[in-house]
Amino acid sequence: MAMKENKLAENVDGAYYVDDDCIGCRLCEGNAPKNFKMKDDDSTAYVFKQPENEKEKHVCENALDECPVEAIGNDG
Ligand code: SF4
Repeated sequence: MAMKENKLAENVDGAYYVDDDCIGCRLCEGNAPKNFKMKDDDSTAYVFKQPENEKEKHVCENALDECPVEAIGNDG
């Protein structure tokens, strides 16, 4: 389970975040490209924009559910 105290600094403020368990598999970027992207060095993903509508919330929830190491959190 993602821990907000381990949130990566690159995440924008808001409900969704990636924590330091991320292994950089890119799945979330593929699932929710309007909200998640990889860091320039590809080491981890981060949330660059919080979801702004129901469709984006849905894909962010899918990304959270499918992350293989449970590195995505939603504290909203
Ligand atoms: S799906 Fe999880 S492990 Fe993979 S890049 Fe996204 S946050 Fe990291």
